[in-house]
Amino acid sequence: MPEVNYPDKERILIGTSSCLMGEEVRFDKSHKHHSYTTKTLGQFFTFRPFCPEMAIGLGTPRETLRLVEQDGDIHCVGNKTEGHDVTIALKDIANEQSSWHEELCGYILKKGSPSCGMERVKVYSAETRMPLYSDSGIYAAQLMKNFPLMPIEEEGRLGDPILRENFIQRVFAYRHWRDIESEGLSMRVLTEFHSAYKYVLLSHDQDRTRALGHRLAHASKEPIEEVAEWYLNEWMGILKLRATRKNHVNVLQHLQGFLKNDLDKEDKAELTETISQYRQGILPLIVPITLLRHHFRRHPKPFTSRSKYLESHPAELMLLNTI
Ligand code: SF4
Repeated sequence: MPEVNYPDKERILIGTSSCLMGEEVRFDKSHKHHSYTTKTLGQFFTFRPFCPEMAIGLGTPRETLRLVEQDGDIHCVGNKTEGHDVTIALKDIANEQSSWHEELCGYILKKGSPSCGMERVKVYSAETRMPLYSDSGIYAAQLMKNFPLMPIEEEGRLGDPILRENFIQRVFAYRHWRDIESEGLSMRVLTEFHSAYKYVLLSHDQDRTRALGHRLAHASKEPIEEVAEWYLNEWMGILKLRATRKNHVNVLQHLQGFLKNDLDKEDKAELTETISQYRQGILPLIVPITLLRHHFRRHPKPFTSRSKYLESHPAELMLLNTI
């Protein structure tokens, strides 16, 4: 990715597991530096690293931990010393960080950790020591319970182009929500916000997006705080779903329709062919999006300058080049 001069005031505050930043905080005093996070995302985000195991005083080097099921509950205990139970300490330390957690617009966690893992952390039987199922690490589970709407992802899943784009789109969108919220919400602001995200939402789930738009359009008599609460819940729930190629094609064709009186025969045929090649997986999403941006620049429509669909995150991140 080319070097980017992203303005400091635009940088988004993101929490991370300290070891992903290259800090030597793991049990063996090593780190798990994740260069995509620090080098690529680091050009747009400001990171707040935190190691829950160090924060509860375990130090380095230390005994490794694991999750075990005991009496129907999941506990985080020493791998060799099962009496060394740090479950409560990890939950408490997550709760104690709430004042800065609530400032964040996202969190990148270390996969597989009994403290930081977002999902698929093995839970063992206390009796047989065999794996039973998987769950979240203790700190991560408490963080997600306290902030269910915050975009949270693991560094391992950021290697998947669709999950990566989804997470980063949600981070930028959540930051936008926080900005309008801090400036003061009203029905007019919410309606404009929904209109800006309508096509983004449609690419994730068409039925839920239409239902959300319908509900918002009939909410003018409800208190704005209540509307904002259910709107944010559903808006983030839709964004969390994976966008599909089929839904993107529908949105692209819909946007193409706005240009039907502006393009000549050749331009129309080229746009139709580009969308068709995206549908077949021959071209990545960035190609029809770039072509649409080009046409809307030449034939501006009031809604396209406000719509987030054609640019929901910085182009330099090249997130649409691989999906
Ligand atoms: S995974 Fe979490 S607890 Fe483990 S070293 Fe990294 S930051 Fe610390």
